[in-house]
Amino acid sequence: MAGTLGNKNFVIFKAESIDRSYPDEESINTEPTQHIRFKDDGRKPVDPKDLHHGGLYRAVAKLFMGFEHSCEEDVEYTWGMGTGQLTASNSLETSAHCVLYTCPICQELTPAKYIKIYLGYDGMASIGDEDRPDGVEFRCADSFTVLKSHYVKMKSKQKPKLTFDVASIRVANAFIHVDPLRFEATPLSSKKEELGVVGYPGDMAYRSEPGAQMFAHFKKDQSFDLSVSKENMLTYTTSTFGGQSGSPVFRRSRPGVSIGIHQGTPDGATINHACPIAGRYGVYVRSYKSALSLATRHPLKYKQPKTLEVELVRAYSQKSSFDRIPAKPELFASEILSYIQLAMKPIEKLQEELSTCTLIGPSEIQLKDKIAGAKAYLELAKLVAQQRDFPDLVVQPEAQPGADNEESEDSKRTHDTLRVDGTSQISRPRTPTHGGFKRLPRRTKATSAKEPRPRRGSTRGSQSVRRMEYKTRKDVLQESEDEY
Ligand SMILES: [Zn+2]
Repeated sequence: MAGTLGNKNFVIFKAESIDRSYPDEESINTEPTQHIRFKDDGRKPVDPKDLHHGGLYRAVAKLFMGFEHSCEEDVEYTWGMGTGQLTASNSLETSAHCVLYTCPICQELTPAKYIKIYLGYDGMASIGDEDRPDGVEFRCADSFTVLKSHYVKMKSKQKPKLTFDVASIRVANAFIHVDPLRFEATPLSSKKEELGVVGYPGDMAYRSEPGAQMFAHFKKDQSFDLSVSKENMLTYTTSTFGGQSGSPVFRRSRPGVSIGIHQGTPDGATINHACPIAGRYGVYVRSYKSALSLATRHPLKYKQPKTLEVELVRAYSQKSSFDRIPAKPELFASEILSYIQLAMKPIEKLQEELSTCTLIGPSEIQLKDKIAGAKAYLELAKLVAQQRDFPDLVVQPEAQPGADNEESEDSKRTHDTLRVDGTSQISRPRTPTHGGFKRLPRRTKATSAKEPRPRRGSTRGSQSVRRMEYKTRKDVLQESEDEY
C-alpha cells in the first residue's frame, strides 16, 4: 500500500470531545494484552524533567480511548490505555488496535468515540495548568484514520496484517509546548543496536493508578532483520505491557527520532514487535496524515458530501466544548467563522448533500440530528460572536463591516457568564481584568469578512475557509512535508 494517498484507502472516524479528567476507573480495561515482559525487565520511570516543556519525551503521549461498548452489566463504556507519538503539533500516531476495540466477549469491533491525549502526563494529579513549565497539555482527538483494508479485516474477524497496525490521530487545536518527534526509516537490519521503547505500561502503578507513569527500557545489542522477521516487523527484547501499544521505538544514538510504532507480540511470538517505518517493508505514516488532512483541513474547499458531513459532525460534536472559554480567542474566532460559513448554507441544500453520505464513525448521529446540530451551532455561534464582541462574525451578509468603531485594541472583557444553552441572560461586564480576553484586532476581522486578501490565492473558493488556517496549521503542514 505504501505511499498511496487519498481517502479510498483509508477509513476516517470522527471522535468527540470530552473533559480532561481521568476516566471512570470501573470502565478501564485492564485485560492483559499481547506484550512480553522478559526476565531482565529493565523498564525504569523516566526522569520527570523529560516530560516537561522542552523535555526529551514530551512528545510521547498518554492516551485513553473511550469505546461506547461493554458487555459488562452497568458499564456503558470501555476505556483502553495506550501511548502515542506526536509527529506534528496537531497529529500523532499510535496502534490501530488502540483506537479499535474488539470486545473479548461478543467480538464486536468498536471504534473509539473519545480519545484523550495528554502530553507530559505523570499520573492523574499532574493534570493542571498546561502553561506551567511542567504543565500537562490535554487535547481530544478530532478525527483518526486507519487503513481501510485493516479495518475491514478486523471487522470481519480476519487477521489483519500486523505491519499496518497503525492509526493517525488529529487534534483540532495544535499542542503548543512540544517539539514533535520525527520518524526515520527503520534500518533493514542491524546487529548491535541499542533500542528502547518509551511509553505508559499498564502493569506499573503509581499511587495506585495503573499506567500512570512513563517508562523507558533501552537494551543493548539488539539484532533484527526485517527481511526475515514475522511480517517484516521490527523486533526487540525490551519488555513492554498493555498501555505501551503505539509507543515510539528509539535508538539510543538518535534521541527524538522514532523508527517504529510498538505493536506487541503476535500470536505465539517470543519477542516484541513494532511496525517498521517507510523503506521496503514499513508504513508510510504520511499517507495516513494526508488522508486525514484531506478530510478535515479544507472542509469547504472540497465539497464532496463526505467532507461536508465530516465538518457537520465536527460542528455538532464540538457544541459541548463551548462551555469552557478557550485559551486562544483568535483560534476560537476562526473556528466560529468556519462553522457559520457552513451553517449559512440553506438547510435544503444540506439535506440534499447529506442524503448522499454514509456516516462513518462511532456516533449514531442521524441526518436530522446533523441538520439540527448545524442549526443549533449557528445559534450558538451567533451568541458567542455577540458575547465576544465580534459583531461582523454574526451572520448578516448585508451588514456593513467597519460600522462598529467603538473598540480599542487593549480593551478586555471578562466572560464568566458565557453559557452555551442560549437561555441565560448575556451579561457583558466591561471590567478590564488581568485574566480577560483581548479582542481580535480590527483589521483581522475586516479581512475575514469582506476585504480581498493580499498575497493569498484569490483562486480559492472561499475566503472564510482560508481564514481557518491559522499559523499552527501552516507550521504543521511544513513539518509534515518531509516526513515518512
Ligand atoms: Zn461485547
